[in-house]
Amino acid sequence: MRDAVIGIPRYLSYYSFAPLYETFFRELGFQVRLSPPSNTDILDAGVRETVNDACIPIKIFHGHVAAIKDRVDFLFVPRLAGAKMHYTVCPKFLGLPDMVRGSISDLPDIIAPRLPMGRDGLQGLRSLYRTGVRLTGRRVQAMRALHNARRALGRRINQIQQGGLEALGFDQPRDADLTVALIGYPYMLYDTLASGGILGQLRALGVRVVTPEMVSTREMRRHARAYPENLFWYYSNRSLWAGMHYMTSGLADGIIHVTAFGCGPDAMVNKLLELESARYGAPFMAITVDEHTGDVGLRTRVEAFVDMLRWQAARKEGLT
Ligand code: SF4
Repeated sequence: MRDAVIGIPRYLSYYSFAPLYETFFRELGFQVRLSPPSNTDILDAGVRETVNDACIPIKIFHGHVAAIKDRVDFLFVPRLAGAKMHYTVCPKFLGLPDMVRGSISDLPDIIAPRLPMGRDGLQGLRSLYRTGVRLTGRRVQAMRALHNARRALGRRINQIQQGGLEALGFDQPRDADLTVALIGYPYMLYDTLASGGILGQLRALGVRVVTPEMVSTREMRRHARAYPENLFWYYSNRSLWAGMHYMTSGLADGIIHVTAFGCGPDAMVNKLLELESARYGAPFMAITVDEHTGDVGLRTRVEAFVDMLRWQAARKEGLT
């Protein structure tokens, strides 16, 4: 008998926890099938299936579900939720399985464990263990699968912190003269469709890129302590603290905040980053992406920002 197939949409929290999800289900004996990388068909399907005023990441996620639902026995749509009162994630993550069920018909069984998020990431994963037991009836196997999945995630986090974007499969220019900190949620930065291909554009301009995933937990905590309150949402906190890290450490020549049109939490993150960049004199630009954002307009803005950084660097060295 063939192994049951579990479908994982290659979007949203997949960009943070891919090794955890994939290892867990493989170790349970499932065949894991991912939806294809985001593309315009997925976006079009997502726009059709989702309510009009949803942010672009939610639309793209629905497109991924539509792309894979007919080829799997189960669909994994985790419900990310706050582990404690004062740490949570955007409510759209909390209601994601319900939104998908309400919007798309003829779905396979949805596996939707509640994954608790704390300040530094996932906290305990009893619900994932229980999911494993429910699916296989084997406690030991579920425990081992969870253990190995957590180790796989830990290894990936270390690789990214030490190896930078290359560890995620993105090349960096060898002779870069500038470094730009690209700030935003992982599903906005690393997804070529959602980001408008900004990573490739910066690489083509000879710019090295650093992102929040390269900032250590220790640094994140240090910047968290600088604020009397945290922003409440996991990904928003990380964007703000990483932005502060790059503004104050001298590790980046400029900051670009990539944000999704219609994102409530980002409205606050963007304003704070703008104010802090003015305070520290860090060059800052915000790019808001929606389903109508074109490549050309985005490239023009990125080129202008990089030109300005180069002009500023030359001025500092007395070359202009
Ligand atoms: S944080 Fe913003 S972009 Fe992400 S799902 Fe929530 S509203 Fe959408």
